[in-house]
Amino acid sequence: MNQLILHLGSNQGLRHHQLLRARQLLRTRIGPEIRCSSCYETSAWGLEDQAPFLNIALLLDSPLSALEVLGVCQAIENEMGRQRSVHWGPRNIDIDIIAYNDAVIQTPRLTLPHPHLQNRRFVLVPLAEMLPNWQHPVLHKTASELLEECPDEGAVVRV
Ligand code: ADP
Ligand code: MG
Repeated sequence: MNQLILHLGSNQGLRHHQLLRARQLLRTRIGPEIRCSSCYETSAWGLEDQAPFLNIALLLDSPLSALEVLGVCQAIENEMGRQRSVHWGPRNIDIDIIAYNDAVIQTPRLTLPHPHLQNRRFVLVPLAEMLPNWQHPVLHKTASELLEECPDEGAVVRV
């Protein structure tokens, strides 16, 4: 089995409902959910003039390869009606792969660990709650250490 960390976000529609629906589909298609963080409300990042997000982190076990997992995540985003119009724009569901075992991958389709995780409090706060001792395989720091050192000041509030 492979250990997989996902980060989910939603800032359109019934945000809680969309996260629950995505979790359900992920469990069915990717594998058992081992842990889930609390839910956090976070101000939008990148394009700031939009509604706040709800974010959660998940830990799953999976027999799938990293690329298969990406395919499943994108299929779920599409089925849930995600429109890919504006980069960093509003979305009813976004599913990002934060890490897959200790894999280090750099291709246009898939970069692992997620290239921006260390710069984003909205990723690090749920991750550090769920797995404080997770080690970044390239930066060799734990989730808690990355959060302590993160310069991002965006609001991340547990809801
Ligand atoms: P973002 O999540 O950055 O707002 P998208 O969800 O639209 O943007 O993803 C853009 C592209 O990022 C996808 O087409 C996907 O192939 C690529 N990608 C690269 N690495 C990852 C990763 N670790 N998790 C999810 N998508 C990734
Ligand atoms: Mg994404």
